Amino acid sequence: MFGAIPYMGIGSRSGVIFKQEQSCQSSAHRVQYASIMVFSYYNRLNSAQKRVYRKSDDIHAVPLPNASGLHPFIFELAVALEHEDRVKTEYFCQKLTADLVAGLTAPPVRVNVLAARPSASWGELHGLYVPAQGRTSAVITVWMRTAQRRQVVAFRSFLRTLLHEICHHLDYELFNLSDSFHTEGFYKRESSLFHQLMNREKGRGE
Ligand SMILES: [Zn+2]
Repeated sequence: MFGAIPYMGIGSRSGVIFKQEQSCQSSAHRVQYASIMVFSYYNRLNSAQKRVYRKSDDIHAVPLPNASGLHPFIFELAVALEHEDRVKTEYFCQKLTADLVAGLTAPPVRVNVLAARPSASWGELHGLYVPAQGRTSAVITVWMRTAQRRQVVAFRSFLRTLLHEICHHLDYELFNLSDSFHTEGFYKRESSLFHQLMNREKGRGE
């Protein structure tokens, strides 16, 4: 059921697939997420963390009150990425994100779009979320080129990554979760955002 998430390659809950977090590192729990058995890590959480995990798992969608108003940004973002224009890509990522979170009455988050993904032996980083600290607002960073071949990331994957990081933001700032775990509910919320934003684009043959 997670086959549509291109950058995660997740195994089943009962599976034995060790998955290194490649798509995202949240600075709040970088160590925790560094190398985990996806979903099975639940057993290693303390009771407070398990409560947060279950709460996250129970939220399956994020209805957007202003989805139709966001569709123009999706189109512009796709064009900017296709033209490999980093500045415009960042601009429309920021506009989309700002209006999306404002529509949900969540605090703002800054978005940086950088060139080639960082990589090392663990793989390559697709996105990064740094929660707000003091007066410093939260920051999302996404990369528009693959690490190895330096090719521009496919639009759907790029949008998925941005929405993935926005979901971390919403966990903290909208759902008031004290931690942002990768639960099944988390991925459902990511898909929920993706489909609301992409629905209109289907009619354009994308
Ligand atoms: Zn993540």
